[in-house]
Amino acid sequence: MCGIVGILGNSPAVPRMMDSLKRLEYRGYDSAGVATASGGKLDRRRAPGKLSALADVLANSPLEGNSGIGHTRWATHGEPTQNNAHPHMTERVAIVHNGIIENFKVLKDELIAAKTSFEGDTDTEVVARLMTHYLDNGLAPRAAFQETLGRLEGAFALCVLVAGEDNLMFGAREGSPLVIGLGEGENYLGSDAMALAGLSNQLI
Ligand code: GLU
Repeated sequence: MCGIVGILGNSPAVPRMMDSLKRLEYRGYDSAGVATASGGKLDRRRAPGKLSALADVLANSPLEGNSGIGHTRWATHGEPTQNNAHPHMTERVAIVHNGIIENFKVLKDELIAAKTSFEGDTDTEVVARLMTHYLDNGLAPRAAFQETLGRLEGAFALCVLVAGEDNLMFGAREGSPLVIGLGEGENYLGSDAMALAGLSNQLI
């Protein structure tokens, strides 16, 4: 189980998320990634290995946006490759996850039967594809997230961005920790107090 940070902010999220992921290095990880919501679109950068590898990717290909989610991964399902690194993303959602979705295989088979294709082998990608499925079926973002949560078994802390909703972020936890941090006109999510140490001292 590794690190999560989410920033729903009013200044560029990526440098601040990278600071936060650096503070989470002590937990150990095998890959890292960030995604932002900007101009109604989601985008992400990911890299296997050290955080410096992700920093190199970002230096060559910067990511704009004041709202973002970041992750350091400790693989439980799927090799520590770029395709399996979080955030897991579709055209509609970007998701980071700590923990294990125990029933991911059942959900994945169901989605494959409904013609959904997958790019990696993680349990987490199922969450992104399932929420996208509900959005595609006309549910509003909050309802789609709630519907998705109702299908998940296992332990999770989740942080979610939705395309077209630059000022929206969902978080949920079951069994894994997730902290909310309050700021000045901003809010944050983190896997522990360390994730938010440089951002907020008002934690819930
Ligand atoms: N089970 C997820 C994966 O293997 C999340 C692992 C984690 O908590 O870092 O990608």
